[in-house]
Formats: sequence, C-alpha cells, structure tokens
Amino acid sequence: MQNATLWRALLGVEKTVVEDIEFDEEEQLLVAHVRPRARARARARCGRCDRASPAYDRGEGRRRWRALDLGTVQVVLEAAAPRVRCAEHGPTVAAVPWARHGAGHTYVFDEQVAWLATQCSKSAVTELMRIAWRTVGAIIARVWVDVEALHDRFADLRRLGIDEISYKRGHRYLTVVVDHDSGRLVWAAPGRDKATLEAFFDALGEERSAQITHVSADGADWISTVVAERCANAVRCADPFHIVAWATDALDEVRRQAWNEARGAVTQRRAGRASGQAKALKHARYALWKNPENLTGRQQAKLAWVAKTDPRLHRAYLLKEGLRLVFQLPYEEAVEALEVWIGWARRCRIPAFVGLQRRIIKHKESILAAIEHGLSNGRIESVNTKIRLITRIAFGFRSPEALIALAMLNFGGHRPILPGRK
Ligand SMILES: [Zn+2]
Repeated sequence: MQNATLWRALLGVEKTVVEDIEFDEEEQLLVAHVRPRARARARARCGRCDRASPAYDRGEGRRRWRALDLGTVQVVLEAAAPRVRCAEHGPTVAAVPWARHGAGHTYVFDEQVAWLATQCSKSAVTELMRIAWRTVGAIIARVWVDVEALHDRFADLRRLGIDEISYKRGHRYLTVVVDHDSGRLVWAAPGRDKATLEAFFDALGEERSAQITHVSADGADWISTVVAERCANAVRCADPFHIVAWATDALDEVRRQAWNEARGAVTQRRAGRASGQAKALKHARYALWKNPENLTGRQQAKLAWVAKTDPRLHRAYLLKEGLRLVFQLPYEEAVEALEVWIGWARRCRIPAFVGLQRRIIKHKESILAAIEHGLSNGRIESVNTKIRLITRIAFGFRSPEALIALAMLNFGGHRPILPGRK
C-alpha cells in the first residue's frame, strides 16, 4: 500500500502491515485493515503468556480495535484474530502487535486514556475519548499491570505507613502502604485484615522486610500483629493523623449529646430559645473540627458562643486541641505534655475523653515513637486524602483493581507517558 510508513505512524502501530484504508463517510469512521508483520505471523504467540504456539483455528473471524482519532474522525483497526494452541492456556487468541490481549483498544489509545485519567476530570476523559467511565477503569487496570512490570516499586523501602481507606460509601476497604521518605504510594489491595497485609509482606519478601526500620499505622490490632511478626526489627509508630482523628470523634460524640439534650428540651418546653440552641450546636460542628489557626471570624464567634453556653463541650474542644498540640512539640516537651494531657483527660468527667485517655495510654509507646522518629509529617496524610478523593472519582469502576490502578498511576511515582512523548 502507498504511504504505508505514514499510515503506521498515524495509527501508532509497530510491526504491523497496513493493507488497506477505508473511509466510511456516513459514519465518519476510518477503517484500517491490518495484519501482523509476516515474521510475527509465522511465529504466532499466545495472547496471554506470549509463548510461541502452533496455529489452532481462525477464532471468531475479523474484529476491530479502536485507535486514536485522526482529527475529528474515529479510527478502528480491523484484522483477523486467529487462535493458537498454547501449551499452558489451550486455544487462545494470538497476540497482536497493536493491542493488549483481550483489549478493544490499541496500545496508544490505552496509554492516552491512562495519561488523561491522571491529569483531568472524569467527564473530560470520557467525552474527549468517547468511551464510558467503566472502559476507562478497564484500560487503566491493564496499563498499570504493564507499568508495574517495568518498575521495582519495593526498592529501598525503609519507613512505611500502613493505613486503611474506605470506598463504596464506606462498605469496602483498601489496605494501603505508603513510603514515608518519598511520599509514594507503594502498594494497595482490597480488604482490611491480616491476610491482606500478609500478602504485602509476601510480595516484599523476607530480606526487604528485615530492612524496614519504621512502620507507622493507625493502631488497629490486625496491623500491629502482622507487623510484629513480619517486620520484627522495625520501630512501630502511631500515625498522628489517626490519633487526632480519634480525638475529633470523641469531641463529636460530646457535641451530638449536647445537641440531643438541647433538642429534647424543645419537645418538653416548645421553647424557641432551646430550638435555637440545638440549631446553633449543629452548625458549630465546623468551628469545633477546624484547627484554631484556620478558623474564620464567624467560626471564632461560634466557638466563643460554645464556651459561654456549653462549658462542657468547650472543655471537650480544648482536650482535642491539647492532644493535637502534643504532636507539634519537640520530643522532650511532647513526653511531658502527653502526661499532662492524660492526667487532664482522666479527670475531665467526659466519658468520651476518659475512654480516649485509656486508648492513648495503650498506644503511648508508639505515639511517642512517632514523635521521636519524626514520623509525624503530613506526607502520608496528604497521600491518604488524595486517595480518598480518587475513591470517589473511581466510584463507577467495576473492580477495585481499576481503583487501585488509578491510585498507583497517580501516586506510585510512575505516571503513564503520553504516547509519542518521552
Ligand atoms: Zn499461553
């Protein structure tokens, strides 16, 4: 065919013969008839394992693969899809040089979608590429498998953070492992139990597990048990982000109680003042949650109002803030401050904080280790926050693998490359 080299470049294919080009004007669709180069055809390979295998049959005849648009025109490759008899996989569609096995899109199409998925919004990807969001999920999952095979993501790991992240509106969980030193997401898998985390240490291997010096985690027993077994040399640290989250939860419990009491007063007295109190307490939530340095003027006023009308809730607020401050102190001062905080919480007569104080005592050693070894940086927290955002974007994906692939391609340190660029 004329201009075969140009067509190969336009279609983004290699080791491929372009036999014919057809343009369907009505559909505005360009169909490129292709076949693998003669040498590739003579030594056909299994699509799954790439092992050279004898021919089997013609499969289901000719099929199509979507390629990148040319200008505004959609493009498909069309070719025969014969099967080979693989020693391991039996009759399997033969590998083709322009697409991944089982894929309905070419390599360059896949690569561009993966790149876009890490760069722009869901609607930008689906509208620009004219594919469903589910298809995006399938594409990034298969791209990640190939990217992963090219890199050793477990090299030089020393300090790990282990965490769980909920998705599907809190019905499912991922266990994630982050590298404290590079801020990279190292590993993620569905589930939150011992078996899930053991799979990580299996993948890491014994020798590399022994080189881990620090592990931070949220204090969950299943994590500490596995870490103690598989990474006995590592200093175990609490994750300050989670400890502060415990305090925020305790504070919220106190706020809800106050709110319920105020609401109860409404039904008893039908008084406007009590109803206003309940409403104001409900809206005080953000003022109570935020770090004081980030409060708006209105939220500061809200806090002052809480101090005046509900001293108990205000005391709970100060307890939460006190604990948060411990993590910002140098080690020596933090040791002392944590003791003072424990004594204060023990005597505070607010059950949520008395309970929290017991939990803090239980994890005291790992909390202080986190401060001593400087693992209280916000890096892991920020990776976790970003992954949480991704779990929302990935909601329409069919499998957790697609969600994990998107997270890994975004934060694993190996972003997909835009086709044709270096
Ligand atoms: Zn095979």
